[in-house]
Amino acid sequence: MSALSRRLKAATVFVVASAAATVAALGPETGFAAEADARAVTQAAKALRDRALVSEESYRLLEDLTTEVGPRFAGTAGDRAGVEWSKKTLESLGFTNIRTPEVLVPRWIRGEASADVLSPSPQQFVTLAIGGSIGTSDEGLVAPIVMVEDIDALRALPEGAVKGKIVYFNERMMRTQDGSGYAKAVAKRTVGPSIAASLGAVGVVIRSVGTSTNRIAHTGTLSYNVSAPRIPAVAISNPDANNLERIVQRSQAHSHDSAEPSNSDKPSDSGDVVMRLRVTARDLPQVRSANVIGEIPGTDLADEIVLIGGHLDSWDPAVGAQDDGAGVAIAIAAAKLAAEMTPKPRRTIRVVLFANEEFGLSGAAAYPADEGDENVDRHAFAMEADLGDGPVWKLAANVPERHWPLVKSIHNIVKDLGVALGENTARGGADIGPLRQRGVPVIAPALDATTYFDVHHTVNDTLEQVNPEHLKQSTAVFAVATYLAAMAEGPIERLPIDPKAR
Ligand SMILES: [Zn+2]
Repeated sequence: MSALSRRLKAATVFVVASAAATVAALGPETGFAAEADARAVTQAAKALRDRALVSEESYRLLEDLTTEVGPRFAGTAGDRAGVEWSKKTLESLGFTNIRTPEVLVPRWIRGEASADVLSPSPQQFVTLAIGGSIGTSDEGLVAPIVMVEDIDALRALPEGAVKGKIVYFNERMMRTQDGSGYAKAVAKRTVGPSIAASLGAVGVVIRSVGTSTNRIAHTGTLSYNVSAPRIPAVAISNPDANNLERIVQRSQAHSHDSAEPSNSDKPSDSGDVVMRLRVTARDLPQVRSANVIGEIPGTDLADEIVLIGGHLDSWDPAVGAQDDGAGVAIAIAAAKLAAEMTPKPRRTIRVVLFANEEFGLSGAAAYPADEGDENVDRHAFAMEADLGDGPVWKLAANVPERHWPLVKSIHNIVKDLGVALGENTARGGADIGPLRQRGVPVIAPALDATTYFDVHHTVNDTLEQVNPEHLKQSTAVFAVATYLAAMAEGPIERLPIDPKAR
């Protein structure tokens, strides 16, 4: 039995409360008969929803953050300004117990990047270095390219096929409502460079992991494997990727036309498309950043925490309005709106703005370590917004079966906002992953990602891309989920502890 369940053994129940003992256990603030309490909470949740739907709070926060701070890439002055802005904002909104535990973050300087075709016909592409990429020499590196679809296709090439060459990954990302197209397409960016390097490649170019049809490149992070040489890696825009694909295909057709018969079945031979790859990125030593934490204390169950979070950092090319300014705004506004309801939230509502999600999940890793097991056990539920402004189209969760009625009661309040009831197998987001692995149940309002990846990690991630009505709806759903989680019948059970849970 966890510390939490021990503490809660005699605690009060709510929402579906029925036992007479419960009534006696309720404090003076909530001294209603249990069923009347349940009705009052449902009424409050509906009022909260309606209030959030017309509230400008989250949009105002997002406008402030993007205007007063701007880009917040880990370790930069903007990152530090984001921490200060968050502290000041939480204070001004009446949050208490505000703190900024230090988080060490890697520091990477993007510099400039180019990927130019030198032959058969000179072309310059819109290019961004992939986050963490090493730089090239000043003159860049010149090599033939080998085009492959994805990592599987790369591995299927004959031995030596990419030795001394630049690997180009051409795989397209599929547009999906749930963002699953990203999960599928992103491997070429994260692990593709090291896999290519282990096969002898000297550089990697990828088709941007993103759905924009405009001439903008999508950045994002890579993860070098220590067992392979580090090679430079860049992303080119989708239209440029289409162009490169045609260049390679024509070059292959041409070389097959003129080749000896014995050469004509050589796979993926585009040896006569030569590229110059130039990257001026570099690493600096780690620097200090911080998670930002603020609370609204609960009443009789104040010892237990309902966590709502987003990540404060962004990529550097833009202000990160969608990624993840929207999540920051939703988390703060939802907590504040929920806290204003009567009956007051019984559990403590804690907002956590995580440091450096984009470039290594530093804040997510530091948070449970800072808290320690005892305090992690105090987390009743966690939720996170990190997929843009929404709207929420589905309410999923990952909670012990006993708490599924809570998810259904949240859904009942928000279903008229176009929210379907999802599954009980949700991951809930990257920053709360370590909490879920430690047994914290997760509530997961799913933000609509259909157009999110048009701007994700690009220069176009600006406030103009945010739909204020979507943001209101998302804030309303997160607020209702926060409020009802703070009111839910206890004791709250834990998920199985699974450090490897994806
Ligand atoms: Zn994000």
